[in-house]
Amino acid sequence: MAFDFGAVGDMAWVRDQLRSRFGQPDRVCARAPIGQLVKSSISGRTLDEVSLAAYRRLVQAYPEWPALAAASTGDVEVLISDVTFPDVKARHLGDALRAIGARHPDFDLAFLGRLSVAEALTWLERLPGVGRKVSASTLNFSTLDMPAFVVDSHVLRVLSRYGFVRRKAGTRTAYDAAMAASPRWSAAELAELHILMKRLGQTICRLNRARCPDCPIRQRCKTAAASSRRPVRAGRRNTDRRQEVMRE
Ligand code: SF4
Repeated sequence: MAFDFGAVGDMAWVRDQLRSRFGQPDRVCARAPIGQLVKSSISGRTLDEVSLAAYRRLVQAYPEWPALAAASTGDVEVLISDVTFPDVKARHLGDALRAIGARHPDFDLAFLGRLSVAEALTWLERLPGVGRKVSASTLNFSTLDMPAFVVDSHVLRVLSRYGFVRRKAGTRTAYDAAMAASPRWSAAELAELHILMKRLGQTICRLNRARCPDCPIRQRCKTAAASSRRPVRAGRRNTDRRQEVMRE
């Protein structure tokens, strides 16, 4: 198992602490599964507002999914040029849409809702460029409303620093650990946890600067505990450096 503590109770505790700090987030309006797949496919390591604007340009230019599937990689790349790795994402997106269109010409992925979560993830992850983050987003954030926890780079960093998973653990390991620690959580509960953890990663547990003294889950965080045990280095000013933010 990737974690070594009473994780089931801890996940609820983390959710409650984050909810107290950030409030209970509104559920985002759900898209059709194919729309969410497209949106998630271009969102990796990109600001939400940037990827959302790119998605809107795509659906405005290609209101029908078959047209987007048939579009050239270059044309798609131009439309999503401000997301990270637009060339790779444009190529994968076209390949994935054509693979879907070959089997489901109506691009209706509602049938995934009749599969188990594991089966639906497996089906999606056979598509070019679709990993666990995109597949889980498609199931959880869309009208499918399936219980699959979405681990993006912010969430992975929080899970790792907190001690849910080991350092350098990948998205799948984090997904497995989080799902094991939140049995029987609904799709809405998992979506809320994702939003709250992401918000923590964007505001306090940031990539280059973790503001542990201000963190609502520092009490049980392994990184914060390790930091507090670290000795003060000679030559530093007489402030308690152990309480300072950590750098990755
Ligand atoms: S206590 Fe620090 S390292 Fe731990 S989750 Fe909070 S900000 Fe991140």
